[in-house]
Amino acid sequence: KHTGKDPDMAKTIAIFNQKGGVGKTTTTMNLTTALSMMNYKVLTVDTDPQGNTSSGFGINKNELEKSIYDALIVGDDPKEIILTTSYKNLHILPSNLELAGSEIELTNMSQRELRLKHSLESVQDFYDFIFIDCPPSLGLLTINALAASDSVLIPIQCEFYALEGVGQLMSTVGLVKKGLNPKLEIEGVLMTMYDGRTNLSLQVVDEVKEYFKDKVYNTYIPRNVRLAEAPSYGQTIFEYAINSKGSQAYSEFSQEFIKRQE
Ligand code: ADP
Ligand code: MG
Repeated sequence: KHTGKDPDMAKTIAIFNQKGGVGKTTTTMNLTTALSMMNYKVLTVDTDPQGNTSSGFGINKNELEKSIYDALIVGDDPKEIILTTSYKNLHILPSNLELAGSEIELTNMSQRELRLKHSLESVQDFYDFIFIDCPPSLGLLTINALAASDSVLIPIQCEFYALEGVGQLMSTVGLVKKGLNPKLEIEGVLMTMYDGRTNLSLQVVDEVKEYFKDKVYNTYIPRNVRLAEAPSYGQTIFEYAINSKGSQAYSEFSQEFIKRQE
């Protein structure tokens, strides 16, 4: 069990950065898998209409009977929607394109920012951790994810414009904290697609550390082609290439993540 406030409730963490392609989905998949292999009970919540986390786990997202849409919009109990994965401690609340219209549908609903939070309440006590993979936007789906979470884990890609958009990201977190979810914290910042051979990666890490201080994890995720290939086989890095640099990095990261819970 994690060492959060209430040991009977899952700690809920949003994997959030409104930029696309920074490693949210890759981090969600591989961190949740690694934690489940450490015997934590984990739920992965896919809130991206692209459904990349769902298909990455080998789920045929176009043949789902029900998806997160039914939990969020229709009001169905997520217990009826959650699927098992090939990992015994890892479940997923899957998503697909049906969710794409929900930003608009949510607009006219009561408590439109809190629907995910209320929906997940029925499964809170079953898991140690719930991870929410956010879509690459600042719309209502992301606001729902932030409102439902205890903390935010921010993947940042080691690239030239790494900090661009971070001001907006942090002010969104600030707004949610002020209006909807006072307990929301920054869980940590994960550097992704790191290349130690380039000055650029080193520079970016320095800049991000200056901004986020010790919130930046000591583990950096390297650029590794195996990480990019695995999802097309419906596999995590631990199934697809257990000896790869990417697999080693995510398993180290999951250990650092757990250490920081203490
Ligand atoms: P996001 O969810 O933030 O849009 P993804 O996790 O989908 O980002 O990553 C974007 C693309 O980069 C995907 O094709 C993914 O496979 C690839 N990718 C992610 N992390 C790495 C990495 N460390 N090394 C190489 N490719 C990566
Ligand atoms: Mg994604």
